[in-house]
Amino acid sequence: MVADLTGHAPAAEPAAAGDWPFSPAACPRLVLKIGSALLVDACGEIRRDWLAGMVADVAAAHAAGQRIAIVSSGAIALGARRLGLAKGGRASLEDAQAAAATGQIALSHAWAALLGAKGLTAAQMLVTLDDLEDRRRYLNASATLDRLLSLGVVPVINENDSVATEEIRFGDNDRLAARIAQAAGAHGVILFSDVDGLYTANPGSDPNARLVPEVRRVDARIRAMADGGSASGMGSGGMASKLEAARIAQGSGAHLAIATGKVDRPLAAFAATRRGTIFTAQRGGSARKAWLAGRLTIRGRIHVDAGAVAALEKGRSLLPAGATGVEGRFARGDVVDIVGPGEHLLARGLVEYDAADAASIVGRRSDALAAILGYAPRAALVHRDHMVML
Ligand code: GLU
Repeated sequence: MVADLTGHAPAAEPAAAGDWPFSPAACPRLVLKIGSALLVDACGEIRRDWLAGMVADVAAAHAAGQRIAIVSSGAIALGARRLGLAKGGRASLEDAQAAAATGQIALSHAWAALLGAKGLTAAQMLVTLDDLEDRRRYLNASATLDRLLSLGVVPVINENDSVATEEIRFGDNDRLAARIAQAAGAHGVILFSDVDGLYTANPGSDPNARLVPEVRRVDARIRAMADGGSASGMGSGGMASKLEAARIAQGSGAHLAIATGKVDRPLAAFAATRRGTIFTAQRGGSARKAWLAGRLTIRGRIHVDAGAVAALEKGRSLLPAGATGVEGRFARGDVVDIVGPGEHLLARGLVEYDAADAASIVGRRSDALAAILGYAPRAALVHRDHMVML
């Protein structure tokens, strides 16, 4: 069994329990993501018995003093059935939006009723990608989540699919859950799914595929293990989006686990069996840098040479002299990726120039910039204060 795939530094807080790196019960704030295939049966109805078990887990965690936020999928699957739409409501964006609007009301009702039966108050939050990508709106959502959790309410969150457009939507609740964990200051995230973790290869076709119990860093080797696509075909988050969620959570100092939800009391079962893949939290930088690292709307790429890679690794800013090319249509202040030789994704940051100006100063020394630009140059192409290493 692969215990440590990368040999990176051990996890920071939250603390380990025994030799298990992630104890859900030790997380004061925990985000649980529930996939569509768990909540909705093949006939498009809510699996109430299963949901009641999940709610019993939430109530037990609450009684122990934890605060839980739920990221619940299922609106599209539920709505599609009610509207008689083909392909589970995912044949077109318009279908998905109509299905989401129809299904969401049933979904919220089910959560509110079952949580209410356990004496818990549910609150609904529907968010779009932009709500969490824009810093001010992100802080606003974060404050709302914080208030709800401190009031002892259980936020039930989903993407606002009925208004999101194709280009600017999460499209999967895995990454949304990681962003919510970040916004809520959660210490752990569990993605309950119809898969029970990350395997070294596709377990359906490769008899040698093994479950990976712990991942300290999502790198190229780990990404190569994900072949995408959920087993059910009902939700939209495959393994690739789960790995991206893991990267976001780890960067904000939260553990993330992928565990099976195909059992009656999934949280209790995960705590008891410890079966799943745990992505251990990394020692966090500032909250703002973690938010930046988790940004999903990347407007461009700046390619840099080996000298710039070395400088960035020492914590320096990226100067135009170290850049070898730019890609994309970005404006000053947009997020860009910084890519080293061999397409190595190195860092992400807020760019100081529009794309055209950035392109004009690529490879140029600082003393040449004013003449090229026709105005006083900025201190850097991407300043280290607005950059995070990936
Ligand atoms: N937001 C979608 C829904 O409620 C689910 C997205 C996903 O499959 O992760 O149906």
